[in-house]
Amino acid sequence: MSSHSSAPAGTAADWAARSRTAVWHPCTQMARLDAVPPLAIVRGDGPWLYDADGAAHFDSFSSWWVNLFGHSDAGLRAAIGAQLHTLPHTLLAGCTHAPAVELAEALSARTGGALGHVFFASDGASAIEIALKMSFHAWRNRGRVAKRGFVSLRQGYHGETLGALHVTDVQVFRDAYDPLLLRSQAVMSPDARQAAPGESAADVAQRALDDLQAVLVREADAVAAVILEPMVQCAAGMAMHDAAFLRGVRALCDAYEVHLIADEIAVGCGRTGPFFAFEHAHAGAQPGLPPIWPDFICLSKGISGGWVPLSLVLTTDDIHRAFWSPDDIARGFLHSHSYTGNPLACAAAREVLRRFADTPLLADNARRAGWLGAAMAEVAAPWVADGRAAHVRQLGQIWAMDIAPAAAGERFAERMHLAGRRHGLLIRPIGGTVYLMPPYLLDEALAHELAGRVQATVQDVLAATAAARVPGAAAASPPASDVLAAPRGAASPDHADRTPEPPVA
Ligand SMILES: *Cc1c(COP(=O)(O)O)cnc(C)c1O
Repeated sequence: MSSHSSAPAGTAADWAARSRTAVWHPCTQMARLDAVPPLAIVRGDGPWLYDADGAAHFDSFSSWWVNLFGHSDAGLRAAIGAQLHTLPHTLLAGCTHAPAVELAEALSARTGGALGHVFFASDGASAIEIALKMSFHAWRNRGRVAKRGFVSLRQGYHGETLGALHVTDVQVFRDAYDPLLLRSQAVMSPDARQAAPGESAADVAQRALDDLQAVLVREADAVAAVILEPMVQCAAGMAMHDAAFLRGVRALCDAYEVHLIADEIAVGCGRTGPFFAFEHAHAGAQPGLPPIWPDFICLSKGISGGWVPLSLVLTTDDIHRAFWSPDDIARGFLHSHSYTGNPLACAAAREVLRRFADTPLLADNARRAGWLGAAMAEVAAPWVADGRAAHVRQLGQIWAMDIAPAAAGERFAERMHLAGRRHGLLIRPIGGTVYLMPPYLLDEALAHELAGRVQATVQDVLAATAAARVPGAAAASPPASDVLAAPRGAASPDHADRTPEPPVA
């Protein structure tokens, strides 16, 4: 029992009921909240989130890909606490402060100075808006006013404000707003799952590059930038691709005079292994040449450790110079948000960067990735063997598999989420893709703990699907009060396995 006077009182059900009335939940069909009441979280510790009834839930996806070191990291708490006592906020137009300057310097150093200019905002979608506007405006300032279009990848996700949505290709988020959106050109995704028999991931990447080149041949004069998520298209269901794709896109962008925007909002900050996912492109690059980089890198989510909102755009001297004018104000980038460069958020991010620089975090993460992969390989093996799961894949701290539509059944993601609650697991599949993206704190025992909870949860849901399919199996089904007992009808055989379902609450 907490003695803290402001500790939340009330059961999880009380909070869920009040929230249903007063809070309009993000990314949620509010009418589904009866079946999927929001989980009332009161406390976080390491990988665990505790609900108002005291139950612990393993945060298997870092609270939507933001949390880096767990929910109670002492270093982050100290960094934000110290800043809270001196300067919680000041504007960044006409003022500056040490957390913003030192963070920008540390990020620039991470690119070897290649992207040495940092523009701050607060959420991921705003960083995308900034990169799109900056790219267009840089061309405009150089007299290339026709370069105003963007090329994006199929299945890409870049956020949900109007500008970010127009380069996003996830139907469920986009379709309703389509009449409002600017037009962008979508080209083939390099998603390695599209490999035909005998085809490698690099072959798929080459096909995607050919598709991009075909567009650039025709339209480069009207294209400002190509935007992509390096290595993993997360919202598409952790669609992974070969790093050769990044090298190929960089070469095409150079050849056709088009900027390259890397959206590392989800994949940055070590999720895929190196600090920037784009660094995977360095491995197979031509020896002797300087490392290749995009013209813009967007970061958010993990950059503040996942504790406070922060996003930013890193860019090059060349882009920065395009805005430089001693006498023409309008040549500048006249864009701002009220909380741009918030000192609390920058202090958190400065601590994140310090951890990457001063501790063996990347090496530790490589070991964590090994434990996660080994524990999950064991768990997934029987499902892969009998065809219920396919495309088991992992890159760094991101692990995923696809459950076959027939085995998954209807509303798989929602049923998984609900079943996870019974097993102390916070999980949110994307369509039929079950994925894990835990905070950077696994040891071997925790990896097995997580894998065991995933195993129990998937088993429950697959068994319920199978039971619902057997005629007259009602008696063997779980009680009717359990929403999992009633998946709505059988899975349609033509259910496209990557069509995202409306995400659960
Ligand atoms: C989450 C995400 C965004 C949007 O970030 P928000 O902070 O949710 O606006 C953009 N791009 C990618 C790749 C993301 O994963």
